[in-house]
Amino acid sequence: MIDSSLKQLSADLAARKISSVELTRAYLDRIESNNAAINAFITIDPDASLRQAQAADKRIARGDAQPLTGIPVAHKDIWCAKGWRTTCGSRMLENFRSPYDAHVIERFNAAGAVILGKTNMDEFAMGSSNENSWFGPVKNPWDTEYVPGGSSGGSAAAVAAALAPAATGTDTGGSIRQPAALCGVSGLKPTYGVVSRYGMIAFASSLDQGGPLARSSEDLALLLDTMAGFDARDSTSLERPPEAYTRRLDEPLAGLRIGLPKEYFGEGISADVRKSVEDAIDEYRKLGATTVDIRLPASDLSVPAYYVIAPAEASSNLARYDGVRYGYRAESYDNLLDMYCKTRAQGFGSEVKRRILVGTYVLSHGYYDAYYLQAQRIRRLIARDFAQAFEQCDVIVSPTSPSTAFRIGERTADPVKMYLSDIFTIAANLAGLPGMSIPCGLDAAGLPVGLQIIGNYFTETRMLNVANVYQKQTDWHLRRSPIASNSS
Ligand code: GLN
Repeated sequence: MIDSSLKQLSADLAARKISSVELTRAYLDRIESNNAAINAFITIDPDASLRQAQAADKRIARGDAQPLTGIPVAHKDIWCAKGWRTTCGSRMLENFRSPYDAHVIERFNAAGAVILGKTNMDEFAMGSSNENSWFGPVKNPWDTEYVPGGSSGGSAAAVAAALAPAATGTDTGGSIRQPAALCGVSGLKPTYGVVSRYGMIAFASSLDQGGPLARSSEDLALLLDTMAGFDARDSTSLERPPEAYTRRLDEPLAGLRIGLPKEYFGEGISADVRKSVEDAIDEYRKLGATTVDIRLPASDLSVPAYYVIAPAEASSNLARYDGVRYGYRAESYDNLLDMYCKTRAQGFGSEVKRRILVGTYVLSHGYYDAYYLQAQRIRRLIARDFAQAFEQCDVIVSPTSPSTAFRIGERTADPVKMYLSDIFTIAANLAGLPGMSIPCGLDAAGLPVGLQIIGNYFTETRMLNVANVYQKQTDWHLRRSPIASNSS
């Protein structure tokens, strides 16, 4: 059961070979036995999950099932889910129970999917290693001395350890793609505006975008069919005709033009990552694709621009955590101002505080023009680079991350080194473009390597096709971490 694709699980549920209650129990049992080793889940609520599973079984029996009816899905703890504790990885929200559902959660509920639990994450989605969680670090299921990536590290680790068949994440600068790469799973960040941000706790609103993590691109397509869609409650949600993301999965790749950005293959990439990515590109050539060398000249400005824009937006979004309305409040204080200060001093971790400080600084009078406006201009340059590149190619391929997973603790003392983990993923967020990561190899230590595919706006269906045809030809996405291979 735990090796089945979502399509297979869906067929087995429809044929009544398994019930959703059995399937959900099987995953809850695996979480029970294995979560302590990797810390992928912050909250599980077996009663709530099994109630949804029972309802799904009734729906299947009535004959009005949809493809995800009865399938358990783990959700990054950034999504508000009614009645569920929703922490965003922070002490600030440690005891917050959401009174409402995010749009994405509503869509999964309407599809009859089961909420399997809430997954661990870097606090407020700020991080690349999951070491910034108030609930402790997540461990990589391939080797528990290593980080799973972040910030959707709990979701990526849950899928990689077979504690969930699928999960949701969010990606502001790489937080779906980078942990997918480091954990050997597939992940997709859609075009900005395709998935509603309503009920998704805000980090940097002009960059944040939700998306799925699963084993294969075929599974991602099924999940995106449910997650995507217009929502009037998110002012940047895009009203477009619904797309069937599974529609072109198997189309041949003959004639596909793959752009290889010179800037994404320079120094600083580990030899094993380079080799695996080059092998994947060769595989694409065998499948009929051609490659073109392209340039993205503003690439080296993407990390600096991001670390102005994202903290600026975060400093504004996080102003709401003041101890007054909801969330953590300091136990003792002298007056209102002291209450704000102590609440925020105690409720936020150090990376979140660093971002708030930077964000407040770059937005302040006298610095706004020098930093924030400049960063916005760079953002335009980056979008223009991509627009020019997509005149020559259909998709852009690169490593997702310059290295495979690193050791827990290795980069915590050096924030800039940590920030550079996202050097290949951030530009897609700045431009609002869709990006995905699929497994394409293992390094000498047996840790997964991810291949990034960036597409033009709204080309998710084509990207999923490009990923799926590769996955039909190769088995990197089917390799299992040691924890996924154990039977309990
Ligand atoms: N690692 C990046 C950061 O810390 C991106 C995080 C994300 O995509 N949420 O901001």
